[in-house]
Amino acid sequence: MRYEGTVYRPPSEAGSLIIQLTIGCARNTCTFCNMYKDKKFRIRPLDEVAEDLAMARNYYNRIQVRRIFLADGDALIVKTEDLLYIMEKCHEYFPEIERISVYGAPKDILNKTPEELRRLKEAGLDMVYMGLESGADQVLKDVKKGVTAAEMIEAGQKVKEAGMVLSMTVISGLGGKKYWQEHAMESARVISAVKPDYVGFLTLMVEKGTEIYDQVQSGEIELLNPQEVLDETELFIRNVDAEGTVFRSNHASNYTALAGTLNADKEKILAQLETSRRRSSFRPDSYRGI
Ligand code: SF4
Repeated sequence: MRYEGTVYRPPSEAGSLIIQLTIGCARNTCTFCNMYKDKKFRIRPLDEVAEDLAMARNYYNRIQVRRIFLADGDALIVKTEDLLYIMEKCHEYFPEIERISVYGAPKDILNKTPEELRRLKEAGLDMVYMGLESGADQVLKDVKKGVTAAEMIEAGQKVKEAGMVLSMTVISGLGGKKYWQEHAMESARVISAVKPDYVGFLTLMVEKGTEIYDQVQSGEIELLNPQEVLDETELFIRNVDAEGTVFRSNHASNYTALAGTLNADKEKILAQLETSRRRSSFRPDSYRGI
C-alpha cells in the first residue's frame, strides 16, 4: 500500500485496512480543521487504487481483512460508477470483508440520487461517517462548513433511506460562549430529525495554523471551559429525541467520557454528566488529542 501524507480515519476504524481513494478534502475550508491543509485535493487514478488493494492482499495474505475504510476526506465525491468499480475490487481481493465505509461530505451525498446510494449499499458500502459539527446555521456559517442544517438533515436521511449505517459527529464548544445554546439545541434538532445509528461528540481542539486559532487569539471567539462544555452537552441530551441512536462522547478530545443509547439511557448519561461536574474530573488539556 502507498500512503500520501497523514491519513485520518474514525476511531472505530482502528482495525480496518485503509485505502486512499482520494487525497485530501475537496472543500478544505472549515476554520477548525487542519487535517488536510497540507494536501491538494485529487481523486486517485482507479488503477492505482486497485494496485494498492492487490499490494494489501499480498501483505495480508494470511490475515483476514474484515473491514476497509476508503480515505481521505470525502470519498463520496467520486463518481458512482468509479466507486462501484473500487468496491468490486475490494470484494475481489478480500472476499472475506464484512464492511466498507467512508467519510461522506453532506454535499456529496446530496449530489447522489437515492438510486445511486442504494446501488452503493448493495455493492457493499455499509457505513458513512458524516461530520455534522453543529446543527446551528450560524455556527455552520461561521466555521465555513459550506452546508446548512437543512442540507445536513436531508443528507443524513438519504444515507439512512439507502439502508447504510450512519455515524454523525458533533463538536462540543464549536459555537464558543456566544452560541453554545443554539449549538446544543439545534444539534439536538438535527440529530432528532435524522436519528443516525451513532452520534459521537468530540470536543473542539484549537490547533495552531487554523483560522479558529487566530480567532481565539484575537478574542473574536471565547472558548467554553470544561464545566460549560458539560452544560452544553446536558442541554443537547435533554432536548434530543433519537430513539435507538447510540451516543458516545469518549473520544480523546473530550473532557469526560459519556456513553449510552438514546433515549433509554438519557437519565444515565445525565447522571454521568453530574458526577463529572461534581468531581470536576476532567481530562487535562495536555492529555486531550485528536
Ligand atoms: S472538517 Fe471535513 S469538510 Fe471540513 S475541512 Fe476538514 S475534512 Fe474537509
